[in-house]
Order: sequence, then structure tokens, then C-alpha cells
Amino acid sequence: MEIRKQFPILDTQVYGKPLVYFDNAATTQKPQQVIDALTGYYTSLNSNIHRGAHYLAAQATEEYEQTRIRVQQFINARHRHEIVFTRGTTESINLVAATFGQRFLHEGDEVIVSGMEHHSNIVPWQLACERAGARLRVIPFSDEGVLDIESYKGLFNEHTRIVAVNHVSNTLGTINPVEELTSIAHQHNVPILIDGAQSISHIKVDVQKIGCDFYCFSGHKMYAPMGVGVMYGREELLNELPPYQGGGEMIKDVTFEKTTYNELPFKFEAGTPSVGDVLGLKSAIDFMEEIGVENIHAIESELTEYAFAKMQAIEGIRFFGTAPNKTSVISFLIGEAHPYDVGTLLDKLGIAVRTGHHCTQPIMDRYGIPGTVRASFACYNTKEEVDIFIAALNRIAPMLM
Ligand code: PMP
Repeated sequence: MEIRKQFPILDTQVYGKPLVYFDNAATTQKPQQVIDALTGYYTSLNSNIHRGAHYLAAQATEEYEQTRIRVQQFINARHRHEIVFTRGTTESINLVAATFGQRFLHEGDEVIVSGMEHHSNIVPWQLACERAGARLRVIPFSDEGVLDIESYKGLFNEHTRIVAVNHVSNTLGTINPVEELTSIAHQHNVPILIDGAQSISHIKVDVQKIGCDFYCFSGHKMYAPMGVGVMYGREELLNELPPYQGGGEMIKDVTFEKTTYNELPFKFEAGTPSVGDVLGLKSAIDFMEEIGVENIHAIESELTEYAFAKMQAIEGIRFFGTAPNKTSVISFLIGEAHPYDVGTLLDKLGIAVRTGHHCTQPIMDRYGIPGTVRASFACYNTKEEVDIFIAALNRIAPMLM
């Protein structure tokens, strides 16, 4: 299959130049089959799920539940009811932090996060800690962007209740050793949540092999529509957590005196879900599996190495995140130029990159910088696009020095 041809938006021209889309860590573009799944749903299937006695409702429910099985297989979860649909990674982490916090966090307890987390895996835990009188402990990382495992081991004590770390850093691209991090947490009888927002479209994820207790990701970063995400949780733990939001399908019986709750996964799916987007997620998984996640990783690694080698020749360039084990994210600065200026000049040449703190302000503080320019590749990017990008950087760099 010719990958690039599947993405109509990649034919777009910006300022009269062909679009070079290198902002894939923020969101990936969508292949035609995902767009078709979405329009197909609204053209011929739209109805509310689980409730109606009619044909369309039954069909939509069937497709929605089939997607749950598809996701279960995709990440190798043991049970389909361990897959909870949310709006995205942020909502998935908030769900766990709020419910886990309510059930297990008390005054004096501790939650371990890493120094390279996205705000979405910091702030929900801070909120939970504030409510309980608990506090965050932070795993430091090296200049290259590698987590300090010895320090991590030293953070555990009798107050530690949960660990929350990302699989891949959205700013540094580091692939963290999640199996090792999980096994260390479990040696202390502490559960672990993995933020998989930046790994799910690049690395084959097997939640049973990792052994983690929660794994969260967003559809829109893996070729699916915005508005759908996943919270995977181990059955035993999910059963112990209270519901998150109330209403809709999450109940068994409601009286004014007492409400009892539905079984998994419906206990955590209050209100009408984004059904069309969920069906789009199924299509995105089909797309990824047609190519093969390993092949996607190989294409992206080759592009990253190619770009990185050429970028190193640019005078004054500084890289942030040079861990040996990385995905296709390159964060950099040119001399003392403000990242926003670099991004704006690239934009005028048709190249879309991300600039700023990337919702990881603690990483910026760690390096003492205001932000970075971030180029991130997906499987539809090409070496020709990298060449355009390098030529643009070579043109821009002397203007900014
Ligand atoms: N965690 C990481 C590592 C991310 O990169 C992102 C998105 N930038 C998120 C969490 C939040 O994802 P979303 O905005 O889709 O909820």
C-alpha cells in the first residue's frame, strides 16, 4: 500500500508551497479509511448505543463493542472489559488519578512521577494529592534525557501509593524502560500507570508483557479522530475503584436513596460516548496493522536518523533529548534564537513544526530554556520532506545567529 496516498490533507499547499507536516507528536493526520469510517457512521449508522431497541442502535452498539475487542487485541489486554473509552489520554489519566486518589490516597502518601512528564500526567496527580494531603515525588533524568533508575528505586518507601510515567516523552522522544519501571514498582507492591500518548503509534504495545496496571492513550495521535481515547486498567484494580462521572450507562439501579453501579467497563463510561470517533479508531487500528507497527517504527527511525545526521551540520544547533532509545521526535534550538521565531520562519516555507514548552514546563526548567522547536515524524513522511526542512533550516539559521 502506498502510505502517503491515503492522506488527502498531505496534498495541501500552504503559502503556495507543498505542506511539510512535521507536527505528528501533536496529532497525526487521518487516512481516507478513517475519514470514511467517520462519515459512514454519520451517513448510515448514527444512533445512540446500548439503549435503543431499534436496528440502527443495535448496529451501532455492535460496532462500538467490536472496537473494544479490536483495542483489546491491539494492546493484548486480557479482557475486553479492561478497555474503557474516554475522550483521550488526558481524560484517561484524570479518571485514574481521581478515582484511585479517592480510594487509596491519604494524608502523607506519595505518588511517583518522572521529571519528563506531560502536564496531563502531572496536574491530575497534583489535584488528587491536594485533595488527600499527599505529595509528588519526581524521578530525575540525565542531560541526554534518560531516567535515573537508581534514583527511582530510592524514591519508594512505605508511603508510596502509585507510579505514573510516560512510555515515550513527547518533548525528548525518549523511550522509557517501562517493563523495568513496572517490575521495580511491583517489587514494592505499588501499581503503575503508563501514559502511552506518544508510544501507541510508534511501538508495539503489549500491556501484559509490560505488566502495567493502567495504560492510557489518545486516538488522534494514532491516525484516529480526535475525541476518543483509551484507559486500559487491570480488572482487579478497576473493580476496586469508585466510578468517575455519574449518569447514563454507568448505573445498575437508581433510587433517590441509593444507586448501584454497572459492571466493567460501563461503570466508567457515563453519558453518550463519541461513537463515530470510536468507530474511526477501529479503522485507524486496521490502517496501522495493514502496514505493521514494526514497519511504521522502522520507517520513522530511518527518517529520524537521516534528519538528525543532516541537522548536526547546522551551525549553532542544540539538541534536547539524545537518549539512545528514541522515537521520531527531534527537539532543538538554533543558537539563542527564540523557538517561536524559528517556527514562524519554517511555517512561511510550508513546514509545520511545534514550538514552545510542549506542555512539559518542568523539562524546560531542567534545561533552563523557554522552549524548543520540535519536529516529529510519522510513517507518511519522506526523505524529500526532510531535505526541504534541512534546506529551510540552513536558510534560516544565518538570519538568526
Ligand atoms: N501525554 C503525552 C506524553 C502527550 O504527548 C500528550 C499530548 N501532547 C498527552 C499526554 C495528552 O494527550 P491528549 O491531549 O490527547 O489528551
